[in-house]
Amino acid sequence: MDQSSTGGTDEGNEAARLRQALLGLSDAQRRVEEAEEQLHGARDEANRILRLFGARLASDGAGPPRDLIRVLYWDYPMISAREIALAFGIRSPGEVYQFAGPDVRSIPCLGGCGLVVNRALKNRSDLKAKPYSSRLDWRYCDECRALRVEEEAARQDEANRARRQREWEEQAILQRAIDEGLAEVDTEIITTVRFQGIRRYITENGDDDG
Ligand SMILES: [Zn+2]
Repeated sequence: MDQSSTGGTDEGNEAARLRQALLGLSDAQRRVEEAEEQLHGARDEANRILRLFGARLASDGAGPPRDLIRVLYWDYPMISAREIALAFGIRSPGEVYQFAGPDVRSIPCLGGCGLVVNRALKNRSDLKAKPYSSRLDWRYCDECRALRVEEEAARQDEANRARRQREWEEQAILQRAIDEGLAEVDTEIITTVRFQGIRRYITENGDDDG
């Protein structure tokens, strides 16, 4: 264990590591909240500019721009149909779909297999099904998508295996420290044993070991 040692005992190290981990957790939480604030700020700014842009088109006497509405509707789900309607003088959010139309696109499979894949969405709520997660990513053909799912599962297995190995190694180091400590009948180490919930050594050797 090469963590900063405060007290010098294993118990001190564990407490210091826990404190460090909790600080890391708070820090990550704070960064997520900041990112969310930024996201909402960026959306509000986009909505504001969109209204100015719509007002400009209206003053030029142009009708709602279908191509732009299609892009906004299908590629920017954070911009609400209500905002789109407001910007382009469309009577209700429900009518925006009449301008956007279904999302029909054909692209070469991103897996590079040469097939062409199609997307055909009629409902904006379909977008919320995490379209780019490997199971649902429409940009891959069925075969390439299945391959990606398999690869992701293999990566996950490998990560889990590495985690278990790391935990096992940490446990082994701790156990060695405990064994050495118990040989010296060090009461601080025995406290660490109970703290960790490892009672096997004591059970196998008796409480009055030594
Ligand atoms: Zn493919």
